[in-house]
Order: sequence, then structure tokens, then C-alpha cells
Amino acid sequence: MELETTTTTIMAALAALTPPQLSDLTHTLLSLSHHHRRRISSLLSSHILFSLTLRHLNSLSLHHKTILIARHVISSLHHLALHFQPAANAPPPRVKLRDLDAVLLLLLLCEVHQHDPDALQAPTAKWREVVGKFYCDTMLTVSGIGDHNASVLVTYVEMLTRCLRFVSAMGSCSFGGKAGREVAASKAVVVALPSVEVRSGGAGPKECVICKEEMAENRDVCELPCRHLFHWVCILRWLSKRNTCPCCRFRLPTDDEYGEIQRLWEVLVSVSSDF
Ligand SMILES: [Zn+2]
Ligand SMILES: [Zn+2]
Repeated sequence: MELETTTTTIMAALAALTPPQLSDLTHTLLSLSHHHRRRISSLLSSHILFSLTLRHLNSLSLHHKTILIARHVISSLHHLALHFQPAANAPPPRVKLRDLDAVLLLLLLCEVHQHDPDALQAPTAKWREVVGKFYCDTMLTVSGIGDHNASVLVTYVEMLTRCLRFVSAMGSCSFGGKAGREVAASKAVVVALPSVEVRSGGAGPKECVICKEEMAENRDVCELPCRHLFHWVCILRWLSKRNTCPCCRFRLPTDDEYGEIQRLWEVLVSVSSDF
């Protein structure tokens, strides 16, 4: 995933928002950033919390660390994508406080390392001090004093770009280009799909494209958010392996982190290419 195209896509999606949507998003991001700063402050001011979080982080494999960042990306992308595709946006997975602390510390450690590759050569007992100093310095300069709407959006784009690049490098997934691997649709979303009655004289084909058989009138069938209809038994089997509509490739949410990033990313790409 190219860094430049990633930033361009996010910026174009932001530009496609209406003013009320943009202010809505800014509010959400501001309150999230307050929450995150409070967590970071707690981490940096408590020796015990810092060591516990660091130990938790150290116990995770690289794969699990990538999943943590992927979930962070999903909830961030979600706040933007839901403005373009409200019908199929399952709420992002709930992140445990312990995992949130871990991912915030991980991102902070990456930033410290990027800023000064030698900084983390210090013994881990000193890391809280090193990270704390870095954090105070950047708070006073980059993000500035006070929460300006523009700075929260800039921080958002930078964070998303960095995390997406990390996840696409580590997660061996191919969003932002070719079609990815097939993943099952989210169970919670499938369970909540509406049942509709096949009406006579309605528009559209009356054939289920999966089994090629007719959908009899007055029969209850499944309707996907893209309005395509299928026999329940056919679509349930289909969605247990894929999260796309057999007619139009509309993507349903999935529980697979990489599949979900791909889905949300495609929403942004389609918005930014229309724009
Ligand atoms: Zn069928
Ligand atoms: Zn469809």
C-alpha cells in the first residue's frame, strides 16, 4: 500500500463529507482523543500500570500485536466510513481497556523509536521516563495547546496512514488493490438480516442467483443491504464462506480483522474515486 495514495484516499473521503458530517466526525475524534490522552496520562503517571501494560505487550506475538493495531484501524476507519455506508456498518468490535492501553503504548513506542532509534536502547525500567519525556515534548509542539479541529483531523489522517501501512506490511493482506481472500460475513450481521416477503409484480428478477431457482410469491426470503433477495438457505450457506453479495459484490461486515479493514477501505476508495 502506497503511503501517498493512502493519505490521498483518506483526505478525499474527508473532503466528500458534508459540513454536518465533518463536524460530527470531528466531535467523535476529539472525544476519542481525550479518552486516549487520559489513558496515556494514567500509563505515564503510574509505574504499576506502565509495567503491567508493557508486560502484556511483551507477552503478545507479533501477529497479536498486528491484530491489536488492526482493530484500532477498524474503529478509526469505521467513524469515517459509516457516513458513506450506514446500512452495513456493524458497530466496531469493543476493545478491552487493557488492549487499548497496550495499543496506545505500542504506537507511542513506535513513534519514540522513529523519532530517535537509540532512545529505546535504555533499560526497560527507564522506558516510562523516556516515553513520558517524548510525549510531553510532542504535546507541547505538534498537536499544540488546546484541541483545534484541524489538528485532530491531521492527527487522525497521520495515525490511520501509519497504522494501515503497518498492518498491510505485517498482515500479509492486500487491501487497497486486488481482491483479497474470501472471509465469512459477521455472524451478528447475518443474524440481523431482514426477512422480506416476495411480492407479485415487484421490480427485479424473481430468481435466486445462487440456486437459479424461482423465489415463490409470498415466500419469506433474505434481503441484503444492497436490496438483493435470496433464499435464506442459499444465502446463509454463501455468507458462511464469503461476505460479498452474489449479485453486486456489496460487502457485508466480517469478524475477520483484515477482511473488515479491506471492506471499510473499499468504501473510502469508492467515495474518493467518485469525488
Ligand atoms: Zn436459492
Ligand atoms: Zn447485491
